[in-house]
Amino acid sequence: MGKQSLHVGFIGLGIMGRSMSRNLHRAGFSITVWNRTASRMEEAKAWGAKIAPSPREVAAQSDVVITMVGDTPDVREVVEGPAGVLAGAQEGLILIDMSTISPDATRQMAARAAEKGVKMLDAPVSGGDVGAREGTLSIMVGGEKETLEKVKPLLEAMGENVVHCGPIGAGQTVKACNQIMCGLNLLGMVEALSFAKKAGVDPETMIQVTTRGAAGSWALANLAPRVVRGDLDPGFSVRFQQKDLRIVLEEADRLDLPLLGTAQVHQLLRSVQAHGGDDDGTQALVRVMENLGRVKVTPHE
Ligand code: NAP
Repeated sequence: MGKQSLHVGFIGLGIMGRSMSRNLHRAGFSITVWNRTASRMEEAKAWGAKIAPSPREVAAQSDVVITMVGDTPDVREVVEGPAGVLAGAQEGLILIDMSTISPDATRQMAARAAEKGVKMLDAPVSGGDVGAREGTLSIMVGGEKETLEKVKPLLEAMGENVVHCGPIGAGQTVKACNQIMCGLNLLGMVEALSFAKKAGVDPETMIQVTTRGAAGSWALANLAPRVVRGDLDPGFSVRFQQKDLRIVLEEADRLDLPLLGTAQVHQLLRSVQAHGGDDDGTQALVRVMENLGRVKVTPHE
């Protein structure tokens, strides 16, 4: 499909969606947007997006619709609700959900979309707000390969690592794997920092050496220096990490698969939430370690 002739709808202009939709526009696609909070559409209007009054109207005007909202019920609402995408979709529409949601719910939604002649892909992302802004996201795609081929130029305008992971739901499954590892690397990082501090070794020195060795991780390279500076701002919020770990644990439950480490990280982050840390960055997990071990890793106030 040629860029000019392809009409792309974008639903959800949050931290991620506002940059992703803009990158599509920059790449030459014609974009129609909708956001629940209307004021957030002003920015998109200023860079040249068309505004629609509902997801249904976005779908009626589009060949491809992308959703980038919050949790599973939010995607259900904008896709299957009375003013949702499926209510306005023409046969042949391609729906790409890029939110992080349940793989199982994704498969159910794709089946309902198919009844309307709509092809669905799940395409969750990794790379955060920076990746969204710079168009460098990793995109994990589930669904039919032929459908992916049709929309690949769109996904490549938003990310640089677009990988077909398998049938519908496989993108969300790979994203769940990503979140398992993010959670456990996070725990490893805050435990190592607490250990270094209590044992009397400079945490910054520990970070410097281990980052390049076998223990290296994204959390160690990016979050550990922030912890040492006492910077617990998001990045990626505890609230979202907990949503993602909940999705992982629900799916593991369905699969009869014990995930001991993931469950532990989920419970420890719950303690961060109980102390009002929902909107902190996930590195706020260090607070739990500080309390458990009577050790101060972040700078003294
Ligand atoms: P965000 O800033 O909180 O934005 C969420 C967007 O979804 C907003 O546009 C919001 O509309 C909309 N929304 C939420 N619930 C809705 C509903 N029921 N009906 C209609 N619209 C609804 O979130 P984000 O950071 O952009 O994240 C979006 C998705 O990407 C999530 O699934 C998240 O897990 C995933 N993700 C995020 C990151 C990250 O670093 N932030 C990284 C990878 C993946 P309003 O403006 O009206 O609130």
